[in-house]
Amino acid sequence: MIEPGLAIHGGAGTIPAASLDPAGANAHHAALRVALAAGWAVLRDGGTALDAVTASVCALEDEPLFNAARGAVFTDAGTLEMDAAIMDGRDRRAGALAGICGPRHPILAARAVMDHAGTVFLAGAGAEMFLREQGFEFLPAAYFTTQRRLDALHLELARRAAGAPDTRSDADRHGTVGAVARDVFGDLAAGTSTGGMTAKRRGRVGDTPMIGAGTFADNATCAVSTTGTGEVFIRYTAAAEIAARIRHAGQSLEQAAGDVITELLSRGGDGGLIAIGPAGPPVLPFNSSGMYRGYVTADGVFHTAIHREDYRR
Ligand code: ASP
Repeated sequence: MIEPGLAIHGGAGTIPAASLDPAGANAHHAALRVALAAGWAVLRDGGTALDAVTASVCALEDEPLFNAARGAVFTDAGTLEMDAAIMDGRDRRAGALAGICGPRHPILAARAVMDHAGTVFLAGAGAEMFLREQGFEFLPAAYFTTQRRLDALHLELARRAAGAPDTRSDADRHGTVGAVARDVFGDLAAGTSTGGMTAKRRGRVGDTPMIGAGTFADNATCAVSTTGTGEVFIRYTAAAEIAARIRHAGQSLEQAAGDVITELLSRGGDGGLIAIGPAGPPVLPFNSSGMYRGYVTADGVFHTAIHREDYRR
């Protein structure tokens, strides 16, 4: 039996340490732990990595503190457009969706694409038609709406209208949720889900649903889920780049993931990622001020952190 492993993130759009009071920090830690528990229960009982990442991401999507599904950010037109992807490291099957609003769990919708659409990536009217055929309920925008994200949208639109410089915190700009896992069979999987960037252009799609950029899994190398300024992660195919360095340059997961995150920053890409390989602990590097994140060690102990402080156990 192979040692299972699990890591999750709630995005690099963290509230600055100076503005996060103890109650706020505790709430984020608690939410991360709920998501770790959901995924770990699957792995501990001998379930698949795919089911574990699905369970963790579903928990994170339900949590309004994070920018995915409930609590998602708004486009510049005041609409909600969510992106999600899931990938199975056993055979590199994948499913992705862009710009959807309705399913309570976009990650389950992405999984339905993987399992039933006969293709990898759906967007637009065809995506909605497919999901309705699959029996997904379309919830009203009100379900996903939070005052905090409305305030962030209105502030950003006012700033743009005034031509003022962008001094927003990461928390007001973006966020994402994701999970990577290795099960007792040694199989890897990754899942990622996001509302994208606050006040993004309508129709804009970030790295999250793009296989090889924001989401990737291959048993031979690693499973990766990213968060950050999506445009840069897309142009540098961030997740696939890590796998390529492992495969072709013989790098360790830690070195490949750490180097890619450092290089992305020099190209204007701030954020982070979580990744796990066929053996060993997951890695969770970031170049931003923080990244809501957590992992489980083989003994079942949960570790969570927000900024650069020590992990809470
Ligand atoms: N990468 C996401 C996007 O570009 C945002 C984030 O992770 O913060 O849509």
